[in-house]
Amino acid sequence: MKLFQKILCAGFCLLLAGGLFAGEVKNVMWVIGDGMGPELMGFFMQGVRYGNVPGYPEKISHLEKLTQEGQMGVYFNNTYDTVVTDSAASATQMATGAFTRPGVIGKDFNDAPVSTLLEIAKEKGKSIGVITDSYVTDATPAGFSAHASNRGEKREIARQQIDLGLDVISGGGLKYFTTGENKGLLNYAKKKGYQVARNKKELEQVQKGKLLGLFSEEAMPLSIEMQNYTHLPSLTEQVKKSIELLEKNKNGFVLMVEAGKIDWAAHANDAGSVWAEMKVLDEALAYIKKYADEHPGTLIYLNADHDTGLGAFTYQHLGKEQVQKKTAQGEVLYSGDMDYASFKQYELFEKQKRSLYYVQEELKRIPAEQLTAELVQEKLTEALGYPVDVSGFENLQDIPGVIRQFDLSRGLVWATPSHSSSMLLSVAYGPEADEFTGVYHNTDMLPRMLKALGWDKK
Ligand SMILES: [Zn+2]
Repeated sequence: MKLFQKILCAGFCLLLAGGLFAGEVKNVMWVIGDGMGPELMGFFMQGVRYGNVPGYPEKISHLEKLTQEGQMGVYFNNTYDTVVTDSAASATQMATGAFTRPGVIGKDFNDAPVSTLLEIAKEKGKSIGVITDSYVTDATPAGFSAHASNRGEKREIARQQIDLGLDVISGGGLKYFTTGENKGLLNYAKKKGYQVARNKKELEQVQKGKLLGLFSEEAMPLSIEMQNYTHLPSLTEQVKKSIELLEKNKNGFVLMVEAGKIDWAAHANDAGSVWAEMKVLDEALAYIKKYADEHPGTLIYLNADHDTGLGAFTYQHLGKEQVQKKTAQGEVLYSGDMDYASFKQYELFEKQKRSLYYVQEELKRIPAEQLTAELVQEKLTEALGYPVDVSGFENLQDIPGVIRQFDLSRGLVWATPSHSSSMLLSVAYGPEADEFTGVYHNTDMLPRMLKALGWDKK
């Protein structure tokens, strides 16, 4: 090909890429795993692939499928002047593109309000919504839909969410809409066209108008304990109904979906609970991806606000104990004192019935002199759903220490009960997904999203 032909071709291809397909994003589903650091994504994908867990006959998670077929990016999430962030600053930086400080909602580091993606989308004529399986005034949904100097101003955030006119507000947090200065807020919301749903049945009945789903007084229960709350909708059920309402707008919609309790499970350094929360996200991703595949013009943008816990499997010396790996015929392949952790652990996560957080809280309330090995063992066995042996554990009065010893016995370690500064992974799937590749910062997300939507041009 001659040089001028090459230039012509390059120019035409650029025109095609930048012109013809620009603005083809009609719907955006921005999915956030709160606290979902890369190690927790890997933990889940690996468990589904190799852990012999039920529900995945093809041995691949929806998270992995989305990642395989989508575009991956890596990003930092530091705030204006701190290395580590919280959910408020992170959601704010993602939704507004402005640097801020921990604890701040929808405002920059000088405390000036900044427009969020959802506000911009509403002005552009799209329907907008926030969904969470924690509570709707919590930092992540708030950062996309309100402006407050302090994430603790939950009633103020609730009022702003109604005033913004979000087409969908769905999650827990009824209390912030019904108490204190917000006693009349539900009536006000109804006058503004909201249908209030307080349980799964009421959610199913909403057919039109704006949805105000408030399914629990505060946060919704941890997913590992959701089987005791069958009147509550799952995250997927919330997503399904919300899309049904939002897609009525022919201009499309922008919806933020948060799997909000991965963070809480990881704060508790509770691997089985993290596993359960990741499954909830994965189920929602299955539905969301199917919707995107059936509705061209739908962009999925999956990411995390920050990492929590930095937890992973590790290997350890067992001292004089011997570990042997044998073939099916009994031939010894490996013999030594090193335990490299077993995939069996992923199967065991499936047996867990209660959050280790509540078990710890319960044990802490028992007077030290009554804390016997039998009692600790009984509580752990009951929560985990399989026999736990604590006979070799030291200092049973130190409950977090007991949990750490138990974790180590199954090959698990956590670096922190708080957030870490770990880099994070994003996955974009659908039109303009390649806007979200490379190494970037969470303040770059909004400009990239505006570009994907064709709204960056003045
Ligand atoms: Zn957190």
